[in-house]
Amino acid sequence: MKTLIKDATILTVNEQSQVLDKGSVFIDGESILAVDETEQVLATCPSPDKTIDGRGKIVAPGFISTHNHLGYTFFRGLSEEVGLRSVTGMYFPMGTVATRAERQAVGSLTCAELLKSGVTTIVEMEEEADVFADFIEKIGIRAEVGVMIHDADVDLMARGTFRYDAGLRDTQLGQAIELAEQWHGKAGGRIRAMMTPNMTISSSPELLRACRSEADRRGLRLSMHLGWGPEEVGIIDDLHGVTPFEYARDHGLMAEDTIMAHCLYTNEADQAVLAHSRTCVAHCPLMNSVRGHIAPIQTYLANGNTVGLGIDNMFSDHFDVVRSALLMARVRADDPLAMMAHDALYLATMGGARSIGLDKQLGSIEPGKRADLMVLNARAFGLVPLLDPVASLVYHAHSKDVETVLVNGELVVDGSEVLRYDAGRLVGEAESASHEAWARFEHKYGARLAPQS
Ligand SMILES: [Zn+2]
Repeated sequence: MKTLIKDATILTVNEQSQVLDKGSVFIDGESILAVDETEQVLATCPSPDKTIDGRGKIVAPGFISTHNHLGYTFFRGLSEEVGLRSVTGMYFPMGTVATRAERQAVGSLTCAELLKSGVTTIVEMEEEADVFADFIEKIGIRAEVGVMIHDADVDLMARGTFRYDAGLRDTQLGQAIELAEQWHGKAGGRIRAMMTPNMTISSSPELLRACRSEADRRGLRLSMHLGWGPEEVGIIDDLHGVTPFEYARDHGLMAEDTIMAHCLYTNEADQAVLAHSRTCVAHCPLMNSVRGHIAPIQTYLANGNTVGLGIDNMFSDHFDVVRSALLMARVRADDPLAMMAHDALYLATMGGARSIGLDKQLGSIEPGKRADLMVLNARAFGLVPLLDPVASLVYHAHSKDVETVLVNGELVVDGSEVLRYDAGRLVGEAESASHEAWARFEHKYGARLAPQS
């Protein structure tokens, strides 16, 4: 299939941050064959099978969200107002009551929402994440998927007691390995597996070391939450006598092939561990803001760390993530020029591509790269006049403005609708699954927040 997107405003995010005012993209199969001024593309490319009229449209690389929990839409509207109590009081306990079918229903809706928001790649880590693999394959998004595992007793952990269990560890590792064996490299390479221990407090040293050795043996990348809250520092100090960053480093998790989500609370020593190991950071500015704090990503970038952006969970409009990366960097620096629109767009695209080791294949609109991109209506409410397209996209665009999305050269969103699933059905199934899971949660824990003691 040869597709031409003709006469559009194209944000290439190439090394020169080139913007073409009247450009065209020619897609041959899975890849971009040419991107240039329209006349140049028409002169050098063969006849297309399909032409998308790009007049009045912005074409941008698809967003790469480097930290997601699709099924955590369970907590939409609830966990935003309980601070970090959501971690041990909601997230882990829900894992003990939600069924696989309920998680699948809720996560499928989220996945469709993200695709509709111009997100073409997700890094998805979650309990029983294997339950999403079929849906990911069919809806057409690109994904790095890991079963998020722990070996701490979850109900004890909610009460502040930490006990690690070898049987649980073996079971959970088995699930993660099974996902890798079944799905790594599948869907034409669009799905790749990762090893994803949840966080330091829920992981024994044995679990972290096993994740590292399985990742090395199978050629997988890793991801984990790190530096997500002050509690983590106290608990890891009590349990192991080191900081969370030292703990992760000592058991093989700080490395260039690893994405650490949040890195929200760090001191200079932690930042040195990050810098020395060249570990990638998944910055989740929207979720950080909900928690009342923002990660010092300007420091990480200055130190040479790769930073990508993640939506984390509950939210569905990835433009809010890109925007909040810029806005929160300015608030943190108390400087209205601390981060510019093209920096935020870079983090959301190339920063993500580098974080997953696919910067030669993804993250920008350049010849030879995979055709993962979005087309926005530049004449929508809120985007006129289009004087600086990068600034307009970063400050003013929303999910609603995305009309068309291609992943691997295939049309997956068109006319602002996901093509392969019925939106009404996804909404209905997610709604009833959430109500059923919460009814069971309340029956077990007596409230929508598990008691602390
Ligand atoms: Zn997370």
